This record gives sequence, C-alpha cells and structure tokens, in this order.
Amino acid sequence: LRVPAFTRCNSSEASLQNESALANDIKEEQGFKGHDMLAPFTAGWQSNDLHPLVIARSEGSYVYDINGKKYLDSLAGLWCTALGGSEPRLIAAAVEQLNTLPFYHSFWNRTTKPSLDLAKELLEVFTAKKMGKVFFTNSGSEANDSQVKLVWYYNNALGRPNKKKFIARTKSYHGSTLISASLSGLPALHQKFDLPAPFVLHTDCPHYWRFHLPGETEEEFSTRLANNLENLIIKEGPETIAAFIAEPVMGAGGVIPPPKTYFEKIQAVVKKYDILFIADEVICAFGRLGTMFGCDKYNIQPDLVSVAKALSSAYMPIGAVLVSPEISDVIYSQSNKLGTFSHGFTYSGHPVACAVALETLKIYKERNIPEQVVRISPRFQNGIRTFSDSPIIGEIRGTGLILGTEFTDNKSPNDLFPPQWGVGAIFGSECEKRGMLVRVAGDNIMMSPPFIISPEEVDELISIYGEALKATEERVK
Ligand code: PLP
Repeated sequence: LRVPAFTRCNSSEASLQNESALANDIKEEQGFKGHDMLAPFTAGWQSNDLHPLVIARSEGSYVYDINGKKYLDSLAGLWCTALGGSEPRLIAAAVEQLNTLPFYHSFWNRTTKPSLDLAKELLEVFTAKKMGKVFFTNSGSEANDSQVKLVWYYNNALGRPNKKKFIARTKSYHGSTLISASLSGLPALHQKFDLPAPFVLHTDCPHYWRFHLPGETEEEFSTRLANNLENLIIKEGPETIAAFIAEPVMGAGGVIPPPKTYFEKIQAVVKKYDILFIADEVICAFGRLGTMFGCDKYNIQPDLVSVAKALSSAYMPIGAVLVSPEISDVIYSQSNKLGTFSHGFTYSGHPVACAVALETLKIYKERNIPEQVVRISPRFQNGIRTFSDSPIIGEIRGTGLILGTEFTDNKSPNDLFPPQWGVGAIFGSECEKRGMLVRVAGDNIMMSPPFIISPEEVDELISIYGEALKATEERVK
C-alpha cells in the first residue's frame, strides 16, 4: 500500500485534518480570512474552506452549483429532499399558505388549521402503534430534545422523579443540540462540548459485521446485545431508566441496519423494566426503507416517535414528536397539578411548514411512495453491491433507498486505513469531480437518494460510484 496524494475533498473530517497544515500555509500566504458563515459541521472555518461548494439551484434528483455544474444529489440534501428539488405542488402549497396566513403560533390554546390538520394526518399515517398526540418542532434535534422533556414531565407526573436516565446507542445520531448531541453516540459530538450530559448512557451499536464474535450468528449477536442492555439497566437500577432511543436503521453513524431479531429482543428488555421506547424516525420515516416507517419494517411498537426531514421533503423546516395516548393522557390529566407543559417554540406548528408537510404526505399517499421505493431499491442496492469485491471495500450495507459503504483493508473491520490517507475523502472528491455528491464521514460513504430517483438516474449513480471507486483504488493500492 502506498500513501495517496491528497486533493481538496469536501466535507470530510479526515481530509480536513490532513489539509489543515497546507491550508494554513495558504491562508498565511494569501491573508485569507475564510467566508463569513460559521458553518455547521465544518472543520476549519478559518483555514480549510477556501472554496466551499456553493449550491445555487435544484431540479429533481440534481443540484447545480453557482458555476452551473450539475450534481446527482445521492444524499438528497441531508437525507431529506425526498421528493427531489423541484416539486411544484410543494411550492404552490407554500405560496398559498404564505398568501393566506404566513404565520400564527400555537401557544395558549390558539393555533392554525394547517397544524391541526397535519397532526391529524400524522396520527393516521403512523400505524405501527396507535399514537395519541403530536407536538411540532422545527427540526429533528428539537424533536429529540422535546422527547426528553416529555418523558421527564411524564415521570414527574407519575411521581417517579428518579426515573430520568436515557439509554441510547454508540454511533447513533439524534441531533446536535445539547440534549440530542448527548443522546447521539458519536465522539465528535461530545468532545470539546463537555457532553454527554450525565443522564445519558450508551449501549452497544448493533453493527454485526464490525462487532460480532467469531462464529456468532446475527441472532446470537442480537441476544448478546439485548443481554448487555439488560445488564446495564440492572446495574444502573431499572427505577432510574426512563427511556431507550433508537433509529430503526442508524444513519449518520454509517448506515447500519439492525441485525436479525435485534428489535424484537431489545423491545422485550425495555418493556420488562417499564422503560419507554423512542423511535427516532428522522431519516427512516415516510418510505425510505420501503415501508412508511422504520417501525413498520422492524415491527417496533414505540411509545414516542421523532420525525422531521422527509416530513416536508425538507422544503420547510419542520419536525414532530408523536406521543402515545398513555403518555399524553398522563400529561393532560396531571397538568393541573404540575402546571402547564411549559415547552414549545415560536415556530411549533408553523402554518407554512405544516401546509407544505400536508401536501408532502398527500403526495406520498397518492404516489404510493413506499411501493415506489420497493420497486426502485433493488436496482440501487444490487447495483452498488456489484462492487463488493473491491479490495478497498470492507462492507456495503443498507436497505431501501439508504446505503453505506465502509472502506477498510483486507475486507476486515479491523484493518482500517490510516485516517491521514483520507480514503473516504478521496472517494468523495472523485464522485464530486464526476458530478455526484455523497456523504463522507471518515472512511464511511453514505447515500440516500430522493424517493423519486428514476431507473436511469440510479444507473448514473452506480456508474459514477464505480468510476470513483476505481480512481480511489488506483490511489490507495
Ligand atoms: N435524528 C436523526 C436520526 C438524524 O439523522 C438527524 C439529522 O440528520 C437528527 C435526528 C437531527 O435532525 P436535525 O438536523 O433536523 O436537527
């Protein structure tokens, strides 16, 4: 193996670290101050981002930069523009609502029709378990923060003030506010921020390929993880554990679908100790896995659900928490004693966001989007898997329209490439050169194309992936 030469690679922590010395030199030479934005999840505001990729417009599955270069958007923005970048009905819904009532809030028993209608629609469309109420937020992070406050309020209402801890999983991603970053199980979200908060515990990441013991089957692996969870609960004291939170398929942690029997076994443990199950459906909801919700696919009966992203196909910022009737009943009945549920955002249930989300859900229904994903996804999943034999690919994993590729040496989860090689970053930049945007996180590549991706576009995606892979292999091997 030889150390590859580095090029500019967007959005990769590895490459950004690699490049920082070089970029600092450039900065010093040119007196470059960077742009004016304190950009999210970007390593070097001052040093590395000399030339950020500036996206100017979108059309279907494609986005265009300010120079007019076209890119197949294989991540659908940030796993969210489910109906692509130019759905006229969503634009019309926004314009109509803006013309009628651009804003009114939902505090103090005042609200708007779109928010009431959307709450009703969400309760209808989620069928894995009957849900009772919907709380609106502006994002997935706010939804997960709200989950914690709802659960705490609920346990206070029930007179269980000590039942407050949350269990999440390593490698999970639940957002980047203080609480949702605490729930997340990614070190980068904790380091330098004094997180996680002390009430958050993390249990095993259910990644079979990486963590199974020699000879252990998927089912045995799931049993071991469920036992580990139970041991953690017993060690901490079940009376102190309020809730368990999980993404049906882990997204930002590297696209990790659950191993066989995992959720069945985990749910049994959680139930045994009277611990609430929170499904973080922010990525999985509304068809991405080929079912309306991840809970449908994995037979999860949650007590609380977080949604965002595809809820409005990302045309407007909106998230929501679906609350089971058991929890909402307690909150309602006890609020006289405990006082108001003093939680909410100016834009909770924003009428324009709700109008767009209502139209989005209507389109999902009319076009039977989960069915469409079932039809198109084998072409996508099988097409990418034709590259499984690549000597630099450790594992390709995914289901429906979500897929992860992990680069390792010798097909082994233990033979990582040195981070300074930036293998994932090289692949990302080779894709970008050829007109495709992927998500790079270290040596993990993630893709979650829009639900409307056509067979021809899937073929193009696979073809660019193959060329970029070949170019990456040449620079690594
Ligand atoms: N939960 C999951 C599973 C996510 O993937 C994300 C974002 O990627 C979030 C929560 C946070 O959502 P937001 O970025 O809208 O705050």
